[in-house]
Amino acid sequence: MKSVWNETCSFPRREPLHGDFVTEAVVIGSGIAGILTASMLQKQGIRVMVLERGRTAAGVTGNTTAKITSQHGLIYSRLIREFGPELAAQYAWANQRAVKSYRELISGQKIDCDYEEKSAYVYTLRDEKAVEDEANAAQKLGIESEYVESLPELPFKVRAAVRFEHQAQFHPLEFLKALSSGLNIYEDTTVFDVRDDVVLTDKGRVTADHIIVATHFPIIDIPGWYFARMHQERSYVLALENAAQINGMYLDEDEQGCSLRSWRNLLLLGGAGHRTGKHPQTSCYDQLRRAAAAFYPQSREVCRWSSQDCVTWDGIPYIGRYSSSARRLYVATGFQKWGMTTAMAAAELITDLVMGRENNCSEIFSPRRFRASASMKKMMADAGCSAAGLAAGLFAPSHRCSHLGCGLQWNEEEETWDCPCHGSRFTADGKPIDTPAIKGLRHG
Ligand SMILES: Cc1cc2nc3c(=O)[nH]c(=O)nc-3n(C[C@H](O)[C@H](O)[C@H](O)COP(=O)(O)OP(=O)(O)OC[C@H]3O[C@@H](n4cnc5c(N)ncnc54)[C@H](O)[C@@H]3O)c2cc1C
Repeated sequence: MKSVWNETCSFPRREPLHGDFVTEAVVIGSGIAGILTASMLQKQGIRVMVLERGRTAAGVTGNTTAKITSQHGLIYSRLIREFGPELAAQYAWANQRAVKSYRELISGQKIDCDYEEKSAYVYTLRDEKAVEDEANAAQKLGIESEYVESLPELPFKVRAAVRFEHQAQFHPLEFLKALSSGLNIYEDTTVFDVRDDVVLTDKGRVTADHIIVATHFPIIDIPGWYFARMHQERSYVLALENAAQINGMYLDEDEQGCSLRSWRNLLLLGGAGHRTGKHPQTSCYDQLRRAAAAFYPQSREVCRWSSQDCVTWDGIPYIGRYSSSARRLYVATGFQKWGMTTAMAAAELITDLVMGRENNCSEIFSPRRFRASASMKKMMADAGCSAAGLAAGLFAPSHRCSHLGCGLQWNEEEETWDCPCHGSRFTADGKPIDTPAIKGLRHG
């Protein structure tokens, strides 16, 4: 069940860490957030080491759909309502700038990664008013966008959509392969703790002035308390041949709807999302197969995969200083399934912090923010799930998460043990797959 990206791109092997080192910056994790941050720091003349517990870019980034867009569902009308126009503008600006940064980086370094400029559409099958509000909000924030009433490329009728111009799509691993070639990456090196300025791994220790945690879900619980402020959600993708070729990138505003983009001769159809550890009774791939059969009856499935991303209480990533008590420890997480642009925004923001520069988007991403009105619903849901998961753990001695002891759920479809509290996952024989868990399961 490899993604089309993993099927078509392989990275050279890197040696594990061997012994103890001193450097200026350490990045933990080599996904899109880690590689972009390390690369940007290196360009500023900082000596950087990247520590990766598996292979380079083999985490969530290898399983994305890789739309590079500032259009993150119907976000801007909500941001203006819940955060006000100034903070909404910071979010829009950071993500629009990220789209531009990809364009400049890829053309400047002549990176061959199937990069194509596209329009992005978020459509509705039920609520024109919500889409109209989003189009107005986006325009108010300076995003080149338009309200449209039909989408002729799609095989079903929509009620309305909003189009963002000059967005893009690419092959994320070809991009990261090129960008990581000049970086000092150590693979098969698991970080298990950070104490002051020392990163402790299973292969040695690294002392650094600046430490960036880019492990997808942060692996250090305290300080920061990210485990109490986020959960993870899975999504599924089918790659279809003989489906119609589409020019735009599409997303249903309904969380249960579909995402569509093309890649070469394939159509990538995504969706069927749910909270990790709460796998529905029916197969998630079958849900997508039914949509494929209805809309593209001639199509054939050539590949399928799934992955998950971190979801914060207020729907905005946490990017910046890890906590007020750890001034040189940084975090980039909570990308809400929009990690292409938000990881670029993270790399720019963290590089500014390391270099001691101002960043005009730091407030909206601040890990220390709390807006009750924007956070309450998910906060209550997360608290409920964690309490239930911890209680289940008390009665499940052989299948407790190695992170905080929550009861794990067996995921029949993917043959994994999944944690409903914070989203850690394990193979059937107990090896850790997804953070925050670092250790495997103990049986018996
Ligand atoms: C199905 C799906 C589709 C998506 N589509 C889009 C899209 O179209 N556009 C978009 O913008 N976003 C999309 N996203 C979101 C995006 O893919 C993610 O937000 C992004 O890839 C996350 O990158 P990351 O660097 O944070 O994590 P990762 O890529 O998971 O990188 C983290 C790395 O840290 C390493 N690590 C973990 N623990 C340790 C440790 N203890 N020691 C050392 N290393 C460690 C891991 O092995 C991993 O390599 C999608 C997400 C999903 C699930």
